[in-house]
Amino acid sequence: MERLVDPQATIAVIRKNEFAFQKRFGQNFLIDSHVLEKIIRAADVTKEDFVLEIGPGIGTMTQALSEAAGRVAAVEIDEHLIPILRETLADCTNVEVIHGDILQLDVKALAKKYHDGRPIKVVANLPYYITTPIIMGLFESGVPLDSITIMVQKEVAERMKAGPGTKDYGALSLAVQYYAEPYLAANVPPNCFIPRPSVGSAVIRLTAHKEKPVLVEDEGLLFRLIRASFNQRRKTLANGLNNSPEIPFSKEEIQGAIASFGLSAGIRGEALTLDQFAALSNYFSRLRPSS
Ligand code: SAM
Repeated sequence: MERLVDPQATIAVIRKNEFAFQKRFGQNFLIDSHVLEKIIRAADVTKEDFVLEIGPGIGTMTQALSEAAGRVAAVEIDEHLIPILRETLADCTNVEVIHGDILQLDVKALAKKYHDGRPIKVVANLPYYITTPIIMGLFESGVPLDSITIMVQKEVAERMKAGPGTKDYGALSLAVQYYAEPYLAANVPPNCFIPRPSVGSAVIRLTAHKEKPVLVEDEGLLFRLIRASFNQRRKTLANGLNNSPEIPFSKEEIQGAIASFGLSAGIRGEALTLDQFAALSNYFSRLRPSS
């Protein structure tokens, strides 16, 4: 089967199968071979690896993954793409096409079935409408992960790798950096896709931490604190926490916690590092262990 990654081959497959793009599935197919190479290189896939591809489309990236990896499972929600994939991936004997919604799939069971529960690599040109739930779902569900290399909206990539005190820093930066080390591999302009998306894109690799960068007694509380601190970005940390229904501590307890770390009473959440959020979380856990 010829390699798909160029505009003519992609258009030929689409025409032959009378495929109609579905906006609701975030369908923007990659047509640039240099970008494809950059993704595969950034993902550092070898024959030892099992790769989960989310949203294979017509199979452009899947063909390249099949060559580089030991095994590939490609999960596609659009039923109209399944017969197309059977054809474009006919020669790729190490690829399993799964028709389904990635948000409903038991990825942990998949990793167990195909890779004995060893860490897997996720590679995808993601549907942008569900980028965050997909990534957080993978991290939070305890799937054994080596890395996630994904095409996302450029501004989302910037938020994932942002540090304290910058405009892009927020709950997504802290959540991603709690689980992984982000690395921006490439910026990708809209003309690398059919149809062209209205936004710029970027390839980012999230390498899962072998050990968490901070130790917290209550992960749930850490994430509630982070959410509450950024829900009202323009408010002080003290007011953000105090106004949040998710935070069960009094104004005095919150002010006491902030002061105990030598932080100014007027500090905003966006100035705090992950270490400081972890310290705050552990302070509150000890203050009231049952909460
Ligand atoms: N990988 C292809 C490429 O690079 O040309 C297609 C990428 S396109 C941005 C996203 C793909 O994800 C589409 O094929 C879309 O149908 C699929 N998709 C959207 N939502 C999905 C979901 N919840 N589960 C699995 N696949 C999904």
